[in-house]
Amino acid sequence: VIRTDKLNKYFGDKHVLKDIDFEVKRREVVALIGPSGSGKSTLIRCLNALEKATSGEIYIQGERLNPNLPVKQLSPIRRELGMVFQNFNLFPHMTVLQNVIEAPLLVRKLSKDQAVALGESLLAKVGLLEKRDVYPGRLSGGQKQRVAIARALAMQPRALLFDEPTSALDPELVGEVLKVMKDLAYEGSTMVVVTHEMQFARDVSDRVVFMSDGSIVEQGDPDELFRRPKEKRTQLFLERVL
Ligand code: ATP
Ligand code: MG
Repeated sequence: VIRTDKLNKYFGDKHVLKDIDFEVKRREVVALIGPSGSGKSTLIRCLNALEKATSGEIYIQGERLNPNLPVKQLSPIRRELGMVFQNFNLFPHMTVLQNVIEAPLLVRKLSKDQAVALGESLLAKVGLLEKRDVYPGRLSGGQKQRVAIARALAMQPRALLFDEPTSALDPELVGEVLKVMKDLAYEGSTMVVVTHEMQFARDVSDRVVFMSDGSIVEQGDPDELFRRPKEKRTQLFLERVL
C-alpha cells in the first residue's frame, strides 16, 4: 500500500530522514518507534505530502506521489491515507456527527442521508453514537480521539496513519483509544502507528520499525525485536522505555 525508496528530508542543513526504505503491506499493522527527534512524525507527514521530502520516492498504491503537484491533484492520493494526530484537530464549531460527515459530504459527494448513516455507523463503532449531537468541547480527550478516528475512517482510506494518538491523553483515557485501534487492527485495517505504547506495539503490530537519528536502525517481528534487539541503539532505547 505504501512504499518509500531512499527518502531523504532536510530541514535547512539538518538531515532528519536518511535513505528511508519503508514499506507497509495491505492489512499490515506497523508500529514506528524511536527516540524523540528521530524523524517518526516527519516520515509519516511525508507519506501524506504534509511535508515535502528532499529526495527519494513515495508510492501509494503503486502510484508515485509527487508532492509538487497542486493540492487539487494531490488530494485524491492523500485521501488514500487517513491521519490521526496527537491533538485530535476536530472542528470545534461542528457537532461530533458533523465532524465525521463533513469530508464524505464535500469530497466523496455522498448524499446527506448516506453520510449520516455512515457517520452513525462509525460513531457506533467507536462507541460514541450517543454523543452525535454534542460539540467537541464537551468531550474528554479519549472521546475526542475516538471521534477523530471515526472521521478518518469516514473517507474509507486504504491505510490509517496515527501519530502518537494517545500521547496527549490522561492515562486513564489511553485504554479506550487503544481498544478502538486494536479492533481496527483485528478487522484487517492497514495501519502505521507512531507510538510510545510499547505494550500496544508488541501485542497488536505485525512489525515494529525502530528509527533513530533519521534512519531505520532495525525492524522485524515485535516479539523478536523486543526480546532480542540486534542493534545496540535499539537495545539502549528499549532499556530506557520498557
Ligand atoms: P517525537 O517523538 O518527539 O515526536 P519525532 O521522531 O516525531 O519525535 P520529528 O518530529 O520527525 O521527530 O523531528 C525530527 C527532527 O526534525 C527533529 O530534530 C526536529 O527538531 C526536526 N524538525 C521537525 N519539524 C521541523 C520543522 N518544521 N523545521 C525544522 N526542523 C524540524
Ligand atoms: Mg513526533
